[in-house]
Amino acid sequence: MNNRRFSLMLVPDQGRVRSVRISAASLIACSITLLCFLSLGIWGGMQMYQADQKQMQISSLQNQIQMAQSRYAEQAGELQSRIDADRKQMAVYARDVGAIQARLARLDALGSKLVDKASLDSAEFNFGLQPAYGGPRLATSDVALEGLDLSIDRLDARLADLDVQLAAVDYLMEQKREEKAARPHAWPSEHGWLSSNYGVRADPFTGESARHNGVDIANRFGAPVLAASRGIVTFAGEMKDFGYMVEVDHGYGYVTRYGHLSSIAVHIGDEVTDGEVVGRVGSSGRSTGPHLHYEVHRFGQHMNPGKFLPRG
Ligand SMILES: [Zn+2]
Repeated sequence: MNNRRFSLMLVPDQGRVRSVRISAASLIACSITLLCFLSLGIWGGMQMYQADQKQMQISSLQNQIQMAQSRYAEQAGELQSRIDADRKQMAVYARDVGAIQARLARLDALGSKLVDKASLDSAEFNFGLQPAYGGPRLATSDVALEGLDLSIDRLDARLADLDVQLAAVDYLMEQKREEKAARPHAWPSEHGWLSSNYGVRADPFTGESARHNGVDIANRFGAPVLAASRGIVTFAGEMKDFGYMVEVDHGYGYVTRYGHLSSIAVHIGDEVTDGEVVGRVGSSGRSTGPHLHYEVHRFGQHMNPGKFLPRG
């Protein structure tokens, strides 16, 4: 068997036939070697394929990890910015509370002072006392801030209450101070003398009994006519019977009228002080000679101007 030999012949299309003689042992050895190489090749290929697969799996895992990492980083960033925003909000709340407390302290002090000054019933305007508050609470999204919100609500309620109390005190004080200043009190012309009183008298034109709604102050033609108190000019022009006339609103229901003027020195809307020249004495309108017709109204009613003229 070991001595058997084989001939491998290569037969080309043309030329000599080549033959190689080979022993059976050599053929077996060659075949085994070839088989070994083939197996090695297949194994190697499989190994490479598996390595590729693993590499792909690793790459995929790496991608997933990276995505997860970036997602976590994003969430962490969001969380951080939310924490930062909350911190800022807390700082704002703290500052607001501080500012409100300072305002409150100042208003409390001012309120007490005003009550003393205005000699009001301090029981009615109790500035030290906490007012009652209640009502439905609005739901707050953040539980941690609820306490702070509540104190801000309370401070707001207290401030609103103080505002009302102070406005009332202020109003009462204004009433006392301003009404006195608004009241007509000055002689409405430079010199001159009272020539006709307020009330029923004989009409200078017809001689019949007629009501005189003001007083007449006789004066030289062109003498200054003066505002009886500070106020705002509400009429400056010509009016039937009155001739050239100026009307001044002094507030608190007081209005004065200056008639029969020869000229007007103010415009509608002008602010005048008491004693300010508003025009000149004349005889315009229903008049018999140069004089000032002076009227005082209170809340639309004629008043006796004599009561508003200075004594002496
Ligand atoms: Zn008159």
